[in-house]
Amino acid sequence: MNPRINIDLNKLKHNTKLLCDKCKENGIQIAAVTKAFCGNPDIAKAYIDCGVTYLADSRIENLKKLNSLPTEKMLLRLPMISNAKEVVRYADISLNSEIETIIALNDAAKSLDKIHKVIIMIDLGDLREGFFDNKNLKEALSKLKKLKNIKIVGVGSNLTCYGGVIPSEANLGKLVQYSETIENILNTKLEIISGGNSSSIYLLEENRMPQKINNLRLGESILLGRESAYGKHIKNTFGDVFQLVAEVIEVKHKPTVPIGEIGMDAFGNTPEFEDKGIRKRAILAVGRQDFGDNDIKPVEESIEIIGASSDHLIIDITKCDSDYKVGDEITFNIAYGSLLSLMTSEYIYKNITH
Ligand SMILES: *Cc1c(COP(=O)(O)O)cnc(C)c1O
Repeated sequence: MNPRINIDLNKLKHNTKLLCDKCKENGIQIAAVTKAFCGNPDIAKAYIDCGVTYLADSRIENLKKLNSLPTEKMLLRLPMISNAKEVVRYADISLNSEIETIIALNDAAKSLDKIHKVIIMIDLGDLREGFFDNKNLKEALSKLKKLKNIKIVGVGSNLTCYGGVIPSEANLGKLVQYSETIENILNTKLEIISGGNSSSIYLLEENRMPQKINNLRLGESILLGRESAYGKHIKNTFGDVFQLVAEVIEVKHKPTVPIGEIGMDAFGNTPEFEDKGIRKRAILAVGRQDFGDNDIKPVEESIEIIGASSDHLIIDITKCDSDYKVGDEITFNIAYGSLLSLMTSEYIYKNITH
């Protein structure tokens, strides 16, 4: 069925094992992130088969889909108060930075007769989520002590998301200091010191990860074999676990410059064209409604993408050796943004192979 995304679970398992081993050598457990594939349980099972410790997602809708899997679930996005009951029901652990929310989770946990685990988020400078000043944190901790259905199990931080700040010995060292402060104030030992996402992998490779960091929340590095601090390929991993396949619905020779007065394209932009004469072009049945503004890259290097509207992708195949015909398939490699969009599109068939 087309268009489709091919998902190679053998390659995914290879990547998961490799990163699990690399982390284990450094005393680190993995919370494997499922949001880029919308919490598909068949894909998440591949993570579990390879020994990850937690499944983690930013959306409760996805954790619901994973409910029957035996692994502990972690909610990555700060919970909404209006959703506290669902959070307690479907997440064993959530990441938090607001005392009001933790109080709501405590109430929900009480009514469901559960203990909900919490990781306290610290903002180390990337300026997305997390406690930012010590006074605010200490006030929250003093209120937390009274909550009977909440267990503070860890501390965490997120970097390289909003601000692009790269994890380092210095900022993750600060996280370790925070963990000690919290342990002292709450008089408990924290089980989880969570040192970030796929942008922290490079510290492992350079042997610079602070000792006490014992957890990473990894999505992109496992799924695409790419660390996200510098965008480098991780050695011996597959970068093509996921590939987009789309079908040719027209092949014709056409000019490169449109004929007539140029107004706006489908997205309100005024396009410009370089005259390269008559070219051989193909239209594929896939479009921006599926991959948004994100990059996709033809596996065959002689193919050039020349434009896309909501449901059509136009490519230049003049330089291709193969004589593409209507009904043929073209394969693309994808990056994180296009993976998210394609997995979210209900028009893309999800083709999982073992
Ligand atoms: C998405 C997310 C992750 C995983 O990020 P990757 O770059 O895909 O490894 C980790 N932590 C939080 C809080 C997230 O939202």
